[in-house]
Amino acid sequence: MEENKKLVTILVPAYNEQEVLHLLYERLVKLMDSNSKYDFEVLLVNDGSKDNTLQIMQELREKDKRFCYLNLSRNYGKETAMIAGLDYCKGDAVVIIDADLQDPPELIPEMIKYWEEGYDDVYAKRKSREGETWLKKFTSKMYYKVLQSFTRIEIQKDTGDFRLLDRRCVEALKAIRESQRYTKGLFSWIGYNKKEILYDRDPRAAGQTKWNYAKLIDLSIDGITSFTTSPLRWSAIFGILVSIIGFIYMIYIIIKTIVTGVDVPGYASLMVVTLFLGGIQLIFLGVIGEYLGRAFNEGKHRPLYFIDRYNEEKETNENLNK
Ligand code: UDP
Ligand code: MG
Repeated sequence: MEENKKLVTILVPAYNEQEVLHLLYERLVKLMDSNSKYDFEVLLVNDGSKDNTLQIMQELREKDKRFCYLNLSRNYGKETAMIAGLDYCKGDAVVIIDADLQDPPELIPEMIKYWEEGYDDVYAKRKSREGETWLKKFTSKMYYKVLQSFTRIEIQKDTGDFRLLDRRCVEALKAIRESQRYTKGLFSWIGYNKKEILYDRDPRAAGQTKWNYAKLIDLSIDGITSFTTSPLRWSAIFGILVSIIGFIYMIYIIIKTIVTGVDVPGYASLMVVTLFLGGIQLIFLGVIGEYLGRAFNEGKHRPLYFIDRYNEEKETNENLNK
C-alpha cells in the first residue's frame, strides 16, 4: 500500500536565506506530516549563497531525510536555480515555492486537490502583495501590460513562480534548454491544463529581498526578447514610416529649391531631423543588439549550470544537461 503513494516534490530555490530556512523547515514539516496521503520530497537548491545557507540545508537533511539539497557551483540566479531543481526532482508533481515564506506552503494541499482533478499547472495568483512598495506593484502591472500586448500567448498577471506542476509540465520545461530563461513565460508557453487559485502574498518572513531594479529590468528585457520578436517588426514598420515622411520632405525640398533657389538658413530643421533620426537609429540598433546578444548566448550551447553536490555526493557533472 505504501508504494502506491504519489510523490510530491517541493522545490525551493534559495540564495542567502539563512534567516528563514529554519522557519521554512517547521512550516513544511507540519504540512507534510498532516498530509499522509502523499509522500513528500523537499528539494532545496542552494544558488551559491555566501552565508550559512548550505550548512543549514545539510543540518536539515540530517534531521529529516525527506529534505534533499542541491548545491550549485556558484550563484546563477533564480531562473537557473529552478531548472536545476526541475532536473533533479523526482516527484510526480512539483511545487515551486520561495524560501522566504512569501508564498504560504499551506496552499499546497489545495493545489494537490486540483492536480488530482486533472489539472497540470495549478498556479497561485496574488490577491494582494503585502510588504511591497507602491512603485514595485505599479511597474510590475505596467510590465505585464506591455508584455501581453506584444504576444498572443496569454500571460498570467500577478502570478509568480509559486505553482504546482504535473510531471509532464516538468518534462516540457526540462526540454527547453535556453540559457537566458524567462520561466514565467515558459509556463504559459508550454500550455497544458491550467488552474488559477487566489492567495494573499505575505511579506518576507526574514532576511532581505534579492531583487533590485537593475535585476528586474534585466529580467523584463529577457522576458520580452525571449518571448517575441515583435519589437524587431515594430522597428521595421516605424523605419518605413519615417522613410516615407523623409521621402516626401525630400521631394518638397527639391521642388522648393528649384522654384525659389537655394536659401542657406535651415540650420534648425537640419538639426532637428539629424538628431531625431540619429536617436531612432540608435534605439533600433539597441533592439537588434538585444536579439543578436540572445542569439550569441544561446549559440554557445553551454550547460545551464554546474552542480557542486547533490546531497552527500559530489557531482562530476558528466552527463549534465544532456
Ligand atoms: N533566489 C535565488 N537566486 C538568486 C536570487 C533569489 O535562488 O540569485 C531565490 C530567493 O532565495 C527566494 C526567491 O528566489 O527563494 C525569491 O527571491 P526574493 O524573495 O529575494 O524575491 P522577491 O520575492 O522579493 O521578488
Ligand atoms: Mg520574496
